[in-house]
Amino acid sequence: MYKTAIIDIDNTLWQFCDAFYEELRKINRNFPPPEEWTHWDFWEGHCSEQDFYGAVNAIHLNQDSDRHQPYPEAKGFLSALKQGGYHITIASHRSPEFMPQTERWLKKHGLFFDDIHLSYHKTSLFNAETNVVVDDAPQVLEKAAESGALATGLLFPWNRDYRENGFRLCGNLNEILEGILTYESPRVP
Ligand SMILES: [Mg+2]
Repeated sequence: MYKTAIIDIDNTLWQFCDAFYEELRKINRNFPPPEEWTHWDFWEGHCSEQDFYGAVNAIHLNQDSDRHQPYPEAKGFLSALKQGGYHITIASHRSPEFMPQTERWLKKHGLFFDDIHLSYHKTSLFNAETNVVVDDAPQVLEKAAESGALATGLLFPWNRDYRENGFRLCGNLNEILEGILTYESPRVP
């Protein structure tokens, strides 16, 4: 029986926030930098909701652009999980219409996956069979921990305040990997 890992893309496999900040600065050159994005409504008063989601979509529309590079450890991270016997679902909070460019980006950078899930409700994937969830969104990590999975991700200003909520936040993907590979899931006999 294989183990399952559900892996996020943005701010997990690459530094989405930097590209996002660049987009947001096109709308408002005084937009606060990512270090100040400590709450979900950080954009309020700096751009409209429509601009905000437009900036997200502009990046996802061009996911496979050469400007969007994965973290240097991302390829090895996914390969090591595969070698460790995990079935890997890449799950991103984005419209399924961005599937072609998302899949091209993963393949272009040799980022291994078994399947891809793109939607605005990825927590619906979490069930009693889910062993590991890697994500940066505190709400997603909380749901993962509730479902009994090992919930872990990269530490950012927007999840720092939630770090005591049952999941492990790390400085890089190698640290996350070590945590996963040394974790004995109670679900695996
Ligand atoms: Mg993310």
